[in-house]
Amino acid sequence: MCQGPIYKMYTEYNDPIDYYFLIGDHKIFLNSLINTHITFEWTGRVECICGQQFSKFYRQNFCYKCYWNAPQASQSIFKPELCTADLGVEERDLEWEKEFQISPHYVYLSNSSGLKIGITRKNNELTRWIDQGAVQGIVLAEVPNRRLSGLMEIELKQHVSDRTNWRKMLSGNPTSLNLVDLKKHYIQYIPEDLQEFIIANNKVTKISYPVSVYPSKIKSLSFEKHNTIQGKLIGVKGQYLLFENNTVFNVRSHGGYISTMLF
Ligand SMILES: [Zn+2]
Repeated sequence: MCQGPIYKMYTEYNDPIDYYFLIGDHKIFLNSLINTHITFEWTGRVECICGQQFSKFYRQNFCYKCYWNAPQASQSIFKPELCTADLGVEERDLEWEKEFQISPHYVYLSNSSGLKIGITRKNNELTRWIDQGAVQGIVLAEVPNRRLSGLMEIELKQHVSDRTNWRKMLSGNPTSLNLVDLKKHYIQYIPEDLQEFIIANNKVTKISYPVSVYPSKIKSLSFEKHNTIQGKLIGVKGQYLLFENNTVFNVRSHGGYISTMLF
């Protein structure tokens, strides 16, 4: 039995991906638990990034104070084009924002529930693609900070989605795409002043997931509705656990929920 707050699952690139469930101080290799019965029980408490415990989060896995004050919950987290640390302008905590924003970022195309555009820190792209359940990914451009990646993404979003349809992503694998051709097509929409950041490397990364069978008519489970979540694990994809009976559990959205895991 393991107890503690749940964290985003840790992954390692392999064929298929190796998934580790993080709960409290424990790190549990999930691939070997596929086709076995596992149980999660929520204690009714949550732990915020500030370390304080509550009976529930205020919004998006943050307490009231952190949601309104912590740099991890600022507007530019969700709208990278609003980043200003590289211009020396503070949003909530300039030192934290400099560390987070001023480093090389990638703008990429991936295939999760279909083609999508996205941004991530350089060297985090694999984790990002795995977290969204993508089966393919290619980098379009490397920019020196997060703000520029956001500006580039805004332009490309007019032509290609920046969202994953999680239901579709969890229903099976999408049709394979020719990402090299798609990159050649979409880079024409990058504004002239950002064209210098397009990178020539056209390496396509392929990703496969440890899923024994895909569910149909998916139903998402949450601790808000059920204190106990259990079932036979049939796979892991993105940040989701897939159970028999067509139910899925979004691990990331339950980050900070203090729970017990039995397996
Ligand atoms: Zn907090």
